Amino acid sequence: MRATMERSRWWELAACRSVDPELFFPVSEIGPARRQVATAKGVCGECPVSQLCLDYALSTRQAHGVWGGLTTEERRAVSARRDRELVRAG
Ligand code: SF4
Repeated sequence: MRATMERSRWWELAACRSVDPELFFPVSEIGPARRQVATAKGVCGECPVSQLCLDYALSTRQAHGVWGGLTTEERRAVSARRDRELVRAG
């Protein structure tokens, strides 16, 4: 719930609000869809709230789409790395 409330605070500043949302939800991350992913990441690269967006996606475990400039697989890798770091830190 907290993450949802936080999203409402930064969403108004999102660079993707004026872009076709389908751009951020490619059918795959390989083949022709790679160009779509690259374009979406370009929008994220100019977005003033990209870190908040990424934090939101990670904390809510968004399963699909480009969030904060990262694909689903890239976010999974970040989450796995963070989980390993937490385990090591005890
Ligand atoms: S980081 Fe990308 S997906 Fe997230 S709000 Fe900004 S433009 Fe949209």
